[in-house]
Amino acid sequence: MPDINVNERQLDEQLAQLEQARPWSPRVISKLETFIRTAPDVEVFRVNPVQYALERSVSEAEALDLFLHATKIGLFEMDWHIVCPHCGFIIDNLHTMKQLRTHYVCAYCGAERDFALDDYIQVAFTISPQVRDTRYHHPELLSIEDIFLNYRLSKDVISPIPAYPTWPEAIEHVTRYLRYIEPGEKVTAELDELPPGVLRAMDGRACLQLTMTDEPSEQASVIPIRLVDGKFQSDDPELQPRSLTRHSMIDQPVQFRYDLQREVPSGKLVFELENREDRRSALCIYHTGRLPPPMLTLRPSLSGKKLLTTQTFGDLFRSEVIKTDETLSIRDITFLFTDLKGSTAMYEQVGDANAYFLVHQHFDALSRVIRDRNGAIVKTIGDAVMAVFDNPVEATSAALEMINALNEFNRTISQELILKVGVHRGHAMAVTVNERVDYFGQNVNIAARVQALADANDVYITADVYHSPGVDDMLKAHRVFPEEVLVKGVSEKLHVYKIGPHRHNH
Ligand SMILES: [Zn+2]
Repeated sequence: MPDINVNERQLDEQLAQLEQARPWSPRVISKLETFIRTAPDVEVFRVNPVQYALERSVSEAEALDLFLHATKIGLFEMDWHIVCPHCGFIIDNLHTMKQLRTHYVCAYCGAERDFALDDYIQVAFTISPQVRDTRYHHPELLSIEDIFLNYRLSKDVISPIPAYPTWPEAIEHVTRYLRYIEPGEKVTAELDELPPGVLRAMDGRACLQLTMTDEPSEQASVIPIRLVDGKFQSDDPELQPRSLTRHSMIDQPVQFRYDLQREVPSGKLVFELENREDRRSALCIYHTGRLPPPMLTLRPSLSGKKLLTTQTFGDLFRSEVIKTDETLSIRDITFLFTDLKGSTAMYEQVGDANAYFLVHQHFDALSRVIRDRNGAIVKTIGDAVMAVFDNPVEATSAALEMINALNEFNRTISQELILKVGVHRGHAMAVTVNERVDYFGQNVNIAARVQALADANDVYITADVYHSPGVDDMLKAHRVFPEEVLVKGVSEKLHVYKIGPHRHNH
């Protein structure tokens, strides 16, 4: 086993800080310490906190909090990465959310795609090199196999091919040529017995495709290429930049874009490649044959959306925002809006100072519920709260618990506060407004309008929420009243459900 070098003093100090950050369940910190001290390099690099939680019997929410606090302290570093669903390589690796974009052409397979925060945009945590220096902190020293299979390939891809239980095995199987090419170096790669189908050469920035036809040739096809400014170029007039559409394994059209593409007979190929750059190139040539582009799925992991709907992230990383002119799409997120009924009258009755105090106590009560239910507050607007959740079941239970929490709170005060809550889910855009992450889109408007339907101590949820897996089950003990309503700004009637109090209470 290779040496593990831990900076004892730093680890000790930072673990002590981490212990103080919040109350932790028993052994959570000692499990993390053991992990940092003993796990192989590859495991402390890009840690998936969801898998970490599963493997160590820690709750997912606590594991997420653990890595966020550990990052804040400097024990770990947080990375955003964009995974290509058609090859499983990490297309882009970013240190902050500010650098996120949504449109990419994969430099490993040429697939062109728009990404959403809950769709192949992941967040992972790597041990800080000041605490434990690993070989993945020095990618320039890695072997070419390590670079492609462990450093550039996502760890979370589930192999769709039964013959290859892991995705790196599948990639190894299709790889025909792999080596570093030094600046100024010329290499010749001879490849024999290539069947019809797709062959690609790539170096992580440049990508070309040869489409091998059914007509084999006895003679070798010679492919002269050079690497210039991060792209492949060629003097072969048939090799041209091209876009192609292919259908994936699930029959979805996928757009591919290549520096160079042409058809060549199947059989034998001779690549003559020259690296005209002043940096080393890691060249990989792989042949996927007639296999359609896969549509890969990932193991459960921390998506960008999941991070944004975690209150601890908002609390600890306030400066992490989206680039000013960028809008990031989220396919499915749940919004919860609350408001106080008749608060104007209350301000008049008890005076501004008392009302302000009560409203703040009510914010505290709602914040606790939101945090307990793994949501995050987006903002408060007057006496209203806007919150986001990854999971509609948790959003709905948060809504019901808020009503209870406020009823409890009301017992301690003379002036009653009356809450109205609405929940809706759907697609939205995340943006930065006033230096913090906010959301916009028709579903945000609908969520606010649904909240406005509620009267005293009511929770209204839309049909999209009601029909989410697990929600109707959770509401079994409640009386639920379906309604069809027209709300401002939405042309069609909206199906909503008013949730009555717990049956046992009446
Ligand atoms: Zn790709």
